[in-house]
Amino acid sequence: MTNYQAIAEQVAEACIKAGRNPADVQLMAVTKTVPVPRILQAIADGATLLGENRVQELAEKKSQLSLPFGGGGPQGAVGVHMIGHLQSNKVNKAVQHADMIQSVHSLKIAREISKACVKQSKQMPVLVEVNMGRDPNKQGFFAEQVHEALHEISALPGLNVQGMMTIPPIFDKKSETAQVFLQMYQLFVDMRGKKMDNISMSMLSMGMSDDFELAVAQGSTLVRVGSAIFGSRI
Ligand SMILES: *Cc1c(COP(=O)(O)O)cnc(C)c1O
Repeated sequence: MTNYQAIAEQVAEACIKAGRNPADVQLMAVTKTVPVPRILQAIADGATLLGENRVQELAEKKSQLSLPFGGGGPQGAVGVHMIGHLQSNKVNKAVQHADMIQSVHSLKIAREISKACVKQSKQMPVLVEVNMGRDPNKQGFFAEQVHEALHEISALPGLNVQGMMTIPPIFDKKSETAQVFLQMYQLFVDMRGKKMDNISMSMLSMGMSDDFELAVAQGSTLVRVGSAIFGSRI
């Protein structure tokens, strides 16, 4: 069994343990710094969703992989999501190449993505990034800012909000990470319950190599796994 297959199996097992349907949790292969031949291998092993941190690398990989456009869905096409910090000067390129932007960390960047979408006549699926752990080294909205942010973003043309993404702080104890994931899930359910226009709260992106099982137990619908699939990046 390959690494990708082993992780896919662990995600499914974590779902079953949590009483969830394995079909409700997507596994993203995070391919930053990973060379194209190894990405192709992961795709051959079943990967349908890739994540990149840098816009330039995302654009290059996408052309090298010559992926069918607009993937990540059930047709077997492969999607590539932008998951890293997005800078203003990279927004146009991100809108051109990404199938989703998971890292909408401010209203400013949301407005810039919207402008680029209008210019390129595109609809961009996005997730709102939440700094649930209030980590000073991380981007994203604080929990109490999310409702108003969603309200404002929902009015921007070209953006299609599908949910939220978070990266927890690095904790010593798993119970602390689980706590952040739980708070994130509660916020997700809360926002979903508000049924805002133009907002579909269907995706909760949380969990990485060290904590995807915890994230699945707390309600994640998309785990982003890099090193556990491709090995250490250093
Ligand atoms: C690198 C990265 C991941 C994957 O991290 P691993 O610990 O290698 O699984 C997930 N999400 C984001 C935003 C990342 O930058």
